[in-house]
Amino acid sequence: MTHRFFSTSIALLFLVPTLVFAAELPTDRSYITFDAAKQDAMTPASAIEKLKAGNRRFVEGDAHNRDLRAQAESTASGQYPFAVVLSCLDSRSAPEIIFDQGVGDLFVARVAGNVINDDMLGSFEFATKVAGSKVIVIMGHSACGAVMGACDGVEMGHLTGLLDKIMPAVDATPVAADAARNATNRKFVEAVTEANAKMQVADVLRRSPILKALVDQGDLLVVPAMHDLSTGEVTFL
Ligand SMILES: [Zn+2]
Repeated sequence: MTHRFFSTSIALLFLVPTLVFAAELPTDRSYITFDAAKQDAMTPASAIEKLKAGNRRFVEGDAHNRDLRAQAESTASGQYPFAVVLSCLDSRSAPEIIFDQGVGDLFVARVAGNVINDDMLGSFEFATKVAGSKVIVIMGHSACGAVMGACDGVEMGHLTGLLDKIMPAVDATPVAADAARNATNRKFVEAVTEANAKMQVADVLRRSPILKALVDQGDLLVVPAMHDLSTGEVTFL
């Protein structure tokens, strides 16, 4: 009797901490990142749907509880990201977080004002033509400081040249007759941000024959998007 009680107690000692631990840290190892077969099975359209679904989880506070350590191990021998995201440097607009993706899921390029240059195009060409990603998202965000700086004609060191890349969007964005054409006009700033994302997409296709060919073959989509900082929601334009 004593022996049986002792055995049961020992068993409970092991069982109870396991249950408590499981309840406190429900990690799911099933969100292991893409392998070549999974990436091959994706289309540009399904890649966008996957990003939309991830953003919905983020907005609803229902992000996957990934085992990132396990993902790091499983991707160490190779990567098969399904999407590329170019976003602003802004600390609040982090693609892996707002699209609820894990290690090895996304190629991420970041620069203030989410503008492209030759190095960015080379990176995109690698990420898609060589590494097989299905979509490039160029994502602006609300209340973007870089866009505000461009709207106000800010000049400072190397920032001047960067903001010059946003100026075509500033120049192309109309305002009402009585409205200000500067950063005090919130609607103007948002409109310039959208225009900038769209113009960067057009520039990608104009400047990179490799990416244009992938798009024409139906193997790639290049799309502009906007991230609302306050809601977390990403709108594909
Ligand atoms: Zn920004």
